[in-house]
Amino acid sequence: MFIVMVASECAPVAKVGGLGDVIQGLSKELSMRGHAVEVILPKYDCLRYDRIWGLTKTFSDLWVPYFNQWIHCDVYFGFVEGLKCFFIDAHSPQNFFNRGLFYGNPDDGERFAFFCRAALEFLLKSGKHPDIIHCHDWQTALAPVLLYEVYQHLGMRHPRVCYTLHNVGHQGIHGEQILRLAGLNPATLMNRERLADDHRPGAVNLMKGGIVYSNFVTTVSPRYAFEIRHSSLGMGLQHVLGVHHQKFGGVLNGIDYNVWNPEIDPHVPKHYSVETVEDKYANKRALRNRFWLREQFSPIISFVGRLDHQKGVDLIFHAVPYCLWRGCQFVLLGSSPHGHVNAAFWNLKRRFNDHPDCHLEIGYNEELAHLIYAGSDIILVPSEYEPCGLTQMIGLKYGTLPVVRNTGGLADTVFDANHAAKPYHERNGFVFNDYNWPGLESALSRAIGLWGHYPNHFRELMINGMKYDYSWNYPGQHYLNIYNHIREP
Ligand code: ADP
Repeated sequence: MFIVMVASECAPVAKVGGLGDVIQGLSKELSMRGHAVEVILPKYDCLRYDRIWGLTKTFSDLWVPYFNQWIHCDVYFGFVEGLKCFFIDAHSPQNFFNRGLFYGNPDDGERFAFFCRAALEFLLKSGKHPDIIHCHDWQTALAPVLLYEVYQHLGMRHPRVCYTLHNVGHQGIHGEQILRLAGLNPATLMNRERLADDHRPGAVNLMKGGIVYSNFVTTVSPRYAFEIRHSSLGMGLQHVLGVHHQKFGGVLNGIDYNVWNPEIDPHVPKHYSVETVEDKYANKRALRNRFWLREQFSPIISFVGRLDHQKGVDLIFHAVPYCLWRGCQFVLLGSSPHGHVNAAFWNLKRRFNDHPDCHLEIGYNEELAHLIYAGSDIILVPSEYEPCGLTQMIGLKYGTLPVVRNTGGLADTVFDANHAAKPYHERNGFVFNDYNWPGLESALSRAIGLWGHYPNHFRELMINGMKYDYSWNYPGQHYLNIYNHIREP
């Protein structure tokens, strides 16, 4: 099968969060199974060019219609971790992708509407006929709309579209003008059955358009699929997901065990596996050295992730002093696009600056993340909502017990040591229900208590977690089944 991923991220060259990991991991899995996979990305100026192999200009006369003008683009080709990637370089007066960031500009909607148009124009002009175009999140939601409203009539009748919702907290809500910019007609699209937002009169909802126009819609865990269809976590998309429920389902994300694996991880000082789990403690020492934490008998509790409200920032804020008060060490790696959240964490960092048991690293650092997963004992994921969550799955692989809230993909992957409806050898962490301080403390306290008083039980849980297979093996097959189900016979 010929599959084209159209996406705004792909790890490690363009990664803001889990979306980047998923594009890379899923594409690699599909390629390994013998399918032809290509990825189309914007050529951001802030790509990690050191991780692209053999970048060359492959197409130089791509003229993309955009409102009442044509924008000249070049398309570059290069390998990212062995994956074939095309990068669209737009020579637009607005400098769409030369902003030094991936997202966060007031004209993000226009930037990605243009990218969708450019990606389809590239497929048309380069004569590619993929069986499947797989789009992701609001940024590429206009691709299926453009395919069926415009490009089908220009001869692209073969491709079918699979569309994945990675987070419905960001739907791409804009004025009608966004459709005109992309070359679409608001008069035919601005109604309840298509792109008109269900709750904001006159607004276009790009994610809704992606849902309506795709042949199949997935989200990144079965629990989140249920939550967004049947509860307020759908953030206004419940109706459209109900209407299209026959082509909607949850597929749990995987993680790439070539990248996230303590047996081979190049960023981990001492490799270890289920058989040699005691070698993990060399990494704990390395983590302490790296952050000037004192050597003592205590667990290291960590958080790695975007400091977004969705991730439970207020609970993380509370967890730091709570864990220190309980005699633990705390390590955090994270950053936020919101200035006030970053400022609050900088204040917390200043407060604990000289504390021998605490280190807050505010920023993004891929390599450091690996050392934290390997060196800590417990990883905290207290999300308010979590479509899938990768950090708990990475933690499990590294023998780092997750403490998570009972929501979305966290509920599908972590099974409580004391309460899960599973046999003991399948339990792998700690789960709490209520999104508040007592809820958080109840789970953290059980984890800390087990670490201190019942180390053998704690180790059994670590090993249970390491034995889980959260690779792309199963989800890869699941996506292939979906592609086969929708592809043109
Ligand atoms: P989301 O997609 O909501 O950001 P996920 O848990 O699905 O959250 O994915 C997070 C991914 O991003 C993980 O691979 C994690 O290690 C990585 N990550 C998040 N923040 C940072 C950071 N500050 N530094 C390094 N890696 C990070």
